[in-house]
Amino acid sequence: MAETRPELTRRPEAPPPPPWALVGAEALQSQPGRVRAALTGGMGSGKTTVAELLRAFGAELIDFDGLAREALAPETPGWAQALELFGPKAKKPDNSLDRARLAEIIFKKPDLRKALEAIVHPLTWELMGRRLAELQASPLVIIDVPLLFEANLNSLFRPVIVCFASWETQYQRLRSRDPNRSRGLTKKMLQSQLPFSEKIRQADVVINNDGSLIDLIRRAKDLWLMIKDYPGPAKTI
Ligand code: ATP
Repeated sequence: MAETRPELTRRPEAPPPPPWALVGAEALQSQPGRVRAALTGGMGSGKTTVAELLRAFGAELIDFDGLAREALAPETPGWAQALELFGPKAKKPDNSLDRARLAEIIFKKPDLRKALEAIVHPLTWELMGRRLAELQASPLVIIDVPLLFEANLNSLFRPVIVCFASWETQYQRLRSRDPNRSRGLTKKMLQSQLPFSEKIRQADVVINNDGSLIDLIRRAKDLWLMIKDYPGPAKTI
């Protein structure tokens, strides 16, 4: 396939973030020598793989979904509120929340998704503030936020990196990674995502992961060189 390098693009106006995301948002502001970048993309597009490559090149990572799991850890206030919302059946024998079950429920019931997000997002944001404070001295922090656009968090970050893979590639990779999820549900989950054209439209940088892992390693190196001193003089957008 043709060589595609990550490229900087011009973004349109982003919608305003939710009020809880304004708490400590100054810690996210990139400046020369201190970059706080968001990484997002569709399911199975390769965000985690790109994030790990950037970490190997020297970036620090914050995994928003990992923090969201922490926010719902057994016996925490988030866990108690989620149990109130979903009832005791949402609990596994080891006391932890049955995340796979919750994911299926909220996939079918948007109101419950909203209610769960209203619990999880502010708590996750608080944990992120602590993690950012720990990484204060780090020149490059990549924050992996799978639902960045859907949660209207994109205006808080510069640059916003979108990891792209075609629908077919995402589907194949998800099928190989999660073979127990049915073909139908995999398709439905992919279809429910914000279209890539929209994510790309709002991105500062796009990394194409439709090729091999070797291609991706090369592109991730280019990406790292591009963003580590963002916004450098040659990268006016
Ligand atoms: P999710 O949002 O579903 O967690 P993700 O965007 O983080 O997914 P990854 O977990 O990085 O995506 O990648 C999905 C799967 O595809 C993984 O099994 C990963 O090893 C594989 N993969 C990623 N990039 C490539 C590539 N270029 N070639 C082959 N396999 C790849």
